[in-house]
Amino acid sequence: MTQGTYTHIFGPVLSRRLGKSLGIDIIPFKTCTYDCIYCEQGRTTNRTAERKEYAPVKDVLTELEQFLAKGVFPDYITVSGAGEPTLHSRMGDILQGIKAMTPVPVAVITNGSLLWDSNVQRDLLAADVVMPSLDAGSEALFRRLDRPVNEIPFEKIARGLIDFRRVFPNEIWLEVMLVDGITSGENEVRDIVQWVEQIRPDRIQINTVVRPPAESFARPIARKRLEMLTALFGPRAEIIANYSGTSLSTEDTPDADRIVDLLLRRPCSLSEIAEALGLRKMETAKTVQLLVEQHKIVEKRFGNQLFFSSPGEGNATK
Ligand code: SF4
Repeated sequence: MTQGTYTHIFGPVLSRRLGKSLGIDIIPFKTCTYDCIYCEQGRTTNRTAERKEYAPVKDVLTELEQFLAKGVFPDYITVSGAGEPTLHSRMGDILQGIKAMTPVPVAVITNGSLLWDSNVQRDLLAADVVMPSLDAGSEALFRRLDRPVNEIPFEKIARGLIDFRRVFPNEIWLEVMLVDGITSGENEVRDIVQWVEQIRPDRIQINTVVRPPAESFARPIARKRLEMLTALFGPRAEIIANYSGTSLSTEDTPDADRIVDLLLRRPCSLSEIAEALGLRKMETAKTVQLLVEQHKIVEKRFGNQLFFSSPGEGNATK
C-alpha cells in the first residue's frame, strides 16, 4: 500500500447491483478458471483451477482495517476482481475476518466454476450475498463462451450451483451474460432457464456485452431482444446491462487518482466513471481529458461508445 493507493482494495464505486461498493481483489490479474470471450479485462493469462493463498490474508485484512478506520462505510464490501476469487484457498478466513471487523454486508462475485467443491462452499458460508454466473445451458456453448480449464465440465458446474443453493442460507444473485449470435436464440436461452429453475437463485440478473470485450466477436444483444429473452426467465428476472451509462448521482468534485484507480480495474465510459465515483459528469470530462493528455489513461472505442482504460493491463471488477 502506498500513499493512499491500496493493493487489494478499490473504490468505493457506485455499482448498479450493490450500491456503494468497496471492492477487494484477492487474486492476481487474470488468474481465472475461465477465459470468457466477453471479459472486460482482456484474455486470461493464467487459466487454472489450482486453489492457493494468492494474496496473504493478513495483508488483505490490514488494508481493509486501515481503510475503514477513515470512517468510510460502503453499502457492501465486495470480494471480486480481475480473477476468480474462489481460487483463493483461504477465502473463508478473509470473509470471516471481514465479518469480524465490520457490520457492512459482504458480497462475493464469482464465475461459479468451483461451487461444487465442498471447501469452496464452506468458505462462502460467511458471505451475505454470493453472485455467481451461468452463461450457457450446454457443454458446447459453455466452452465457446467461457473457455474454461479443461478439467471443469459444464454439468459439474451447473450441478455445483444447484448443490450450493442447498447449503447456502443467504442470498444468491445469479448473473446470466447473453452474447449476440451465441446465446441470443430462444432455444439457447431456454436451455439456460432449465438450469436456473433448478438452481433457484434469489435474483436472476441478465446482462450483455456493454464494455470492450476480450474478443471483438463478442457482441451485445439489442435492448428489445434482451427484454424478450429476459422474459423467458420469468417475472423475477431483471436486466442489469447498462446501455445508457446515465449518471445515478452527483457529489464531490472529480478526483484524478480515483479515476486512474477505477480504470486500472476496468474500462469505463465517461458516464460510467462519473456514476461509479459519484462525480459530476462535466467536471469528470475535464479531468479525464487531462489524464488522456498526460497519457495516464487511454481512449478505446467499442461500437459507437468511447471508453477509457489504463494504458497497462491491470483491471478488476466483473
Ligand atoms: S469475465 Fe470473470 S470469469 Fe470470465 S474470464 Fe473474466 S474474470 Fe474470468
